[in-house]
Amino acid sequence: MELILSKFSASEYKSQAQKIRVMTEGWVNKSVFCPNCGSSLNSFENNSPVADFYCKKCAEEYELKSKNGEMGKKIVDGAYSTMIERLKSDNNPNFFFLTYDKSTLEVRNFLTIPKYFFVPAIIEKRKALSPTARRAGWVGCNIDVSNIPEIGKIFFVQNGVRKSKDEVLEKWSKTDFVKAAQSVESKGWLLDVLMCVEKIKQPEFSLEDVYGFEGVLQAKHPSNHNVRAKVRQQLQFLRDKGVIDFVGRGQYRMIGR
Ligand SMILES: [Zn+2]
Repeated sequence: MELILSKFSASEYKSQAQKIRVMTEGWVNKSVFCPNCGSSLNSFENNSPVADFYCKKCAEEYELKSKNGEMGKKIVDGAYSTMIERLKSDNNPNFFFLTYDKSTLEVRNFLTIPKYFFVPAIIEKRKALSPTARRAGWVGCNIDVSNIPEIGKIFFVQNGVRKSKDEVLEKWSKTDFVKAAQSVESKGWLLDVLMCVEKIKQPEFSLEDVYGFEGVLQAKHPSNHNVRAKVRQQLQFLRDKGVIDFVGRGQYRMIGR
């Protein structure tokens, strides 16, 4: 896997945005495999409204976003309303995110986020464009990546270092349990509790440790009146799915991490 964007394919394009688009898509086509099954990827014909790549073998679809410089906490995406609609439907693509260094054209990070990590809570509405703008009133959105559990960010390249194909495929398959959440609401709780567990940063943790985030969780779910019961329910779910193990006396352990 070459970690430099090739300028060759983009020489006929004038606008910088188009050049970058062509270079990053070219790189993905050549260097990236389907994280769900390991097959090679195909591009959609020009400008599919939603996704950029698909896998012929397993039919997963991927949307690519790229950015010069640091990863940051948020990724600028398209129209807010389209995004919210997508989350409710089945045709939501998975996500590819690429960061590069503009001066060297080096790919610094490339990660995928499975579609089932996308919940309304991570979609941020931007301010409507001003009346004088070309698309006056248009409302875009940001994806708040800082609110996605680490387990949902699967790197092919991290800080300029490549990961093995096996590692990518294994990490992807380990996120499968998130699909089992019954509704958008229960998925929201699941991902929130998962983030709390990750923030504890210990292989073993207690129920009390997770209760320590009660205030944070209450703020995210103001209409819920029994946060602790929800916490226990999500830990039970994570245990049933083999993500955490019950060690005894309110102690849990992360499996395989
Ligand atoms: Zn596939």
